Amino acid sequence: MRIENGLSVDVEEWFQVGAFERVIDKADWPSLQSRVEANTGAVLDLFAEADVKATFFTLGWVAERCPALIRRIAAAGHEVASHGVDHSRVFTMTAEQFRGDLRRARAALEDASGAKVTGYRAPSFSIDKRTPWAHQVLAEEGYAYSSSVAPVRHDHYGWPEAPRFAFRPIADAGLVELPVTVVRIGSRNLATGGGFFRLFPTTLTDWAIRQVNAEHRPAIFYFHPWEIDPGQPRVANAPLKSKLRHYSRLTKMAGKVRHPVAGHAWGRIDAIAAREAARLE
Ligand SMILES: [Zn+2]
Repeated sequence: MRIENGLSVDVEEWFQVGAFERVIDKADWPSLQSRVEANTGAVLDLFAEADVKATFFTLGWVAERCPALIRRIAAAGHEVASHGVDHSRVFTMTAEQFRGDLRRARAALEDASGAKVTGYRAPSFSIDKRTPWAHQVLAEEGYAYSSSVAPVRHDHYGWPEAPRFAFRPIADAGLVELPVTVVRIGSRNLATGGGFFRLFPTTLTDWAIRQVNAEHRPAIFYFHPWEIDPGQPRVANAPLKSKLRHYSRLTKMAGKVRHPVAGHAWGRIDAIAAREAARLE
C-alpha cells in the first residue's frame, strides 16, 4: 500500500524570510511589493493539475492583508494552518508572547477561511531545546498537531536529538509533533525540503521519501511560494550566503516541484496527524 505523505507550503512573502531579517525592517514590509497572492496562486494551480491536497501554513500577516487568498486555499480543499503572525521565531519570544502570536494568527486565518485551524508550523522550525514550553502552549491553545521541529544540525535552526517521526511532546496531551522529514545518512540527519530540495537533485528527495515510506512512516515535505518566483525583487545588501541560498535555482523550482508531487501519494497534514495520533495511542 502506498503511504500518504504530508505536502506543505509555508505561505509568506519573499521578504519575510529569516535570510533577510537583518537587512529588511519589519516596519518596511507594508511598502514592499506583495507577490504572495500570485505565487501561492501558481502553487494552487500546480496542485490542482496534479490533483493533490496539501496544508498551507500561512502567516497571520498574510491572512490579514489577503483574506481572498486564504478563502481560495480553503475552497480548493486544502488545509489552512498557522505559521504565526510575522515570522518571529519561537525562541525569540516568551511563552506568553508566543500565546499572543498564536491567537492573533489563528483569528486572522479562521476569519478568512471560515475553517478551524488545528495545525501550526514554527517559523524557521524554531521549536527546539531552547523552547521547552512551546508544545505546552500549543496544547493549551487546542492545537491537534505541530510540524515545527527539524531534527537536523543547521546554522540557523535544528534540534538534532529530536525524534525523526511523529511523537507526543507532552505526556498528558493529545498534541502530536510531526517533524519535517530528514533522512539518515551514516550518523547524520540530512534535511530534504525547502532550500535543500531546491539545491540538491530531485532524485535525492525521491530517495528520501521512499526510505521513510519503507520505514512505514509518512514523509513531511515543504516549500515556499517565493521559491517558484524568479521575478521577485533582489535584496542587494543581504549577506552573500543568504543571497546564494535564497536565489539559487528559482527558475527551475516550479518544474522541479512537479516531480515529487507526481511521484508520491500526498495529503493534508491534519489527516496524517490524526492517523499518527491513533498509532501513538
Ligand atoms: Zn516560514
